[in-house]
Amino acid sequence: NFKDILHPVCVGLECAGGAGLPCASGWPDALFDHDGQITKRPMRALTLSALAPRAGEALWDIGGGSGSVGIEWLACHPANSATAVEPDPIRAARIVENARALGQDRLRVIEGRAPEALEGLDLPDAVFIGGGVSQEMLDWLWGRLSSGTRLVANGVTLEAEALLARGQAERGGHLLRVDLAEAAPLGRKRGWRAAFPVVQWSVTL
Ligand code: SAH
Repeated sequence: NFKDILHPVCVGLECAGGAGLPCASGWPDALFDHDGQITKRPMRALTLSALAPRAGEALWDIGGGSGSVGIEWLACHPANSATAVEPDPIRAARIVENARALGQDRLRVIEGRAPEALEGLDLPDAVFIGGGVSQEMLDWLWGRLSSGTRLVANGVTLEAEALLARGQAERGGHLLRVDLAEAAPLGRKRGWRAAFPVVQWSVTL
């Protein structure tokens, strides 16, 4: 059975319909235990696409939340590595549990706040900022990361958007605004329920 070879841990997974894990990024949110703080499936697919993992590469997942981005980064190739940084102890424990349940227990989880918690780590090939973005964090990253590192930052608040827009003006890269809507009941009919727009800045240092 080739499914056993691909994903031994997940073959019988109830929420994946017992069909194993998808080969494409953007797994169903239900595969991850979470408290609502999770990069939702379509946005996660766009995020992994922008992070563009290659075999053997390392990621810093800043603002790990449920760990979904780091876990999908690892699933891309068995030689990949990832470190998630998350200050909330309950979420940090949940990341460990999600990684284990999805067969990616080599995800390293640091309970702490970036940028301080990143001090002394081996430098990554790519960095994702999913929470806690600040000018201080961006400046710290520019002072430490090697040239060629890929950075992807998602922002939902106006404050984060302003930081990312300024970052792009000063340092280049690509800004993407994602406006997603999902069909939802509206009285006895249906309507589009819009999510908060997400601004994504991708840049290679
Ligand atoms: N990408 C995650 C969701 C991120 S939610 C997922 O898919 O599950 C944003 C997270 O950033 C929250 O869990 C919050 O605790 C964390 N956070 C906030 N400030 C932070 C900081 N300075 N360093 C690291 N994480 C931070």
